[in-house]
Amino acid sequence: MGPRHAGAAHATCATGDASIVTETSSLADRWTQVRDRVAAACRAAGRDPDAARILPVSKTFGPEVIREAVALGLRRFGENKAQEIRDKAGPLADCGLEWVMIGHLQTNKAKDVARLASEVQSLDRPKLAAALHRRLEAEGRTIDVLVQVKTSPEQTKYGLPPEQLPAFLDELRGYDTMRVRGLMTLAIHTSDPVAVRACFRKLRELRDDAAQRGYDLPRLSMGMSGDFPLAIAEGATEVRIGTAIFGPRPYPDSYYWPETPKAD
Ligand SMILES: *Cc1c(COP(=O)(O)O)cnc(C)c1O
Repeated sequence: MGPRHAGAAHATCATGDASIVTETSSLADRWTQVRDRVAAACRAAGRDPDAARILPVSKTFGPEVIREAVALGLRRFGENKAQEIRDKAGPLADCGLEWVMIGHLQTNKAKDVARLASEVQSLDRPKLAAALHRRLEAEGRTIDVLVQVKTSPEQTKYGLPPEQLPAFLDELRGYDTMRVRGLMTLAIHTSDPVAVRACFRKLRELRDDAAQRGYDLPRLSMGMSGDFPLAIAEGATEVRIGTAIFGPRPYPDSYYWPETPKAD
């Protein structure tokens, strides 16, 4: 174990010491629990126990907490805001992490994401695709992307309307900076498991329809701390887990999912 603070001269990532910090042992416990629960949900769905990959969502947690997660072997983190990726990528540059953008992305933030993110799962409109392509070209980078589709009737959720998916996938074929690997969604925010599961099923069906038209979209990113077993039952290949790993966040969800979508 290295020191808790990485100096600029350190060649390898300095991680938290999981054995002495109480806070860290509970992070370790929660991580183990989440892995067990995800594997159990896979088995319950008749799938391979490691059929669903976990994307730890570190939004609102700072570099110190992320270093503790790195000490547990985590290397890939989901973030909801471009600004947070920017703020964390610098201090954690020694860790060689992969940043995955999962939140609404304004076109004027595409530059940071094109530079720092290994992947974007919230690609949800033509204007953003054009902006990201331009910025990725300038960076000389190619990244994996998922198209975020709106599967819930709520007004509050971002995502491409499902009926626009065929045309959008066609359009993305024109951008060689982005490899379209699958689809992502947020389920309706309700305690009704039937309604939640319907959102996940919808995403799988949209993927299957696209496959009929020749699109290979193996990845389905769906399910979060509160609903991932339902997503896994419907074929999620990855679940985005924040609270169940890192604990409660200091801000309410409305901070991330504003009632009124911002203009791009
Ligand atoms: C915050 C967030 C998650 C994780 O949510 P939890 O309920 O904390 O697991 C997943 N996906 C997106 C897009 C998020 O913003």
